[in-house]
Amino acid sequence: MKARMYYSFAILFASIASSWVHADQEVSAGSPPISCEFEFISFNTEFPTGRIDGCEQTGQNSYTLYLQPENEPINPSPWYAFQIVNASTQAAEIDITLLAQNGPARYSPKSSTDKQQWAAVPHTTGEETINFTIAVDPEVPLYIAGQEIIDNRSYLRWLADLAKTPAQEIFTLGYSSEGRPLPAMVSYAEGSDDWLVLIGRQHPPEITGALAMLHFGNALFSTDTNFSAFRKEFNILVVPNMNPDGVHLGNWRHSSLGLDMNRDWKNFSHPETQALNAFLQNIRAEGGNIQFALDFHSTYRNIYYTMPADYVNSKNMPLRNATLVDNWLDALATEISWDVINRPGHNSDSGVFKQYMADEFAVHAVTYEVGDNTDRAEIKATAEIAAELLIKFLDDD
Ligand SMILES: [Zn+2]
Repeated sequence: MKARMYYSFAILFASIASSWVHADQEVSAGSPPISCEFEFISFNTEFPTGRIDGCEQTGQNSYTLYLQPENEPINPSPWYAFQIVNASTQAAEIDITLLAQNGPARYSPKSSTDKQQWAAVPHTTGEETINFTIAVDPEVPLYIAGQEIIDNRSYLRWLADLAKTPAQEIFTLGYSSEGRPLPAMVSYAEGSDDWLVLIGRQHPPEITGALAMLHFGNALFSTDTNFSAFRKEFNILVVPNMNPDGVHLGNWRHSSLGLDMNRDWKNFSHPETQALNAFLQNIRAEGGNIQFALDFHSTYRNIYYTMPADYVNSKNMPLRNATLVDNWLDALATEISWDVINRPGHNSDSGVFKQYMADEFAVHAVTYEVGDNTDRAEIKATAEIAAELLIKFLDDD
């Protein structure tokens, strides 16, 4: 185990005091758990995904919490998740300012007492700040986070729920840089060489993409007859949590190596990307045909980043089932009332997963991006219809 440093600041008998703590960034690209204690109010990140990088009392009931990236340069997606404890005997109403280094504020605050049910927190945003007032009951710790919390253990429970038959096998695909397991499941279709691949969570705070993947997977492994029939024709690999270090540490974007995993599908400098590449190469070596892959993410809006239908890869091969993605997304657009944006593009040197799938296996892959603030019911409905339609077009191959 690597050494961890715990910060604790007790400021007693002072109505206004300040403390400012820094994460020790030389340990790894991540943040150690923090505990900031003031007279009655304390903030801590001592749970998986927890993340703030310092705190300061700025008034009788006012606190500024600092958000810092794991390293830089970085795509600015200031993640935060912390617990507030009120040690007094009376309810407290406190003003919180979240101040992001190199913001801007991306994630709207949500509150929960159990990390399961979340409520939106009314707030205002500035260039690098989010401000809100929140009531904290004594002895009922309150969690505040940028999105719902989906931690590493959630994925183990989810896969265990999905795997219902002996044809579905849960296993550890490999281990992260810090030794955390990469949970995976294969659903085997006897006698079939065809494979569908689903991956997620390369970027830790991209929770709406993670939600889409859970709903997509729930549909795919449901008892519905179309999906049951599909599972007899296609082998399915599910790797829902590619970056368990980043998820655990509450990183803004990177792995514990301080790198963007979705730029590593050319260099393979991570044990995580190496593990998936080895598994996919082995599928091919044993005669399997990978047909399609989905990689779930979040950004400011719903969008599907795709490979162009006429793409010819670095080995001079066109993509298998070239019109698959256009057909699928066109069909999706006719089935749902919100926009389906199909954004084809490629950059052969980018190290992005979808590009790797096209260049290495000559198949389509799609970066399935969900808006940070997309309605949660819409995420579910879209993912379920997307799954229903995808298996029709994959079947047509
Ligand atoms: Zn992403």
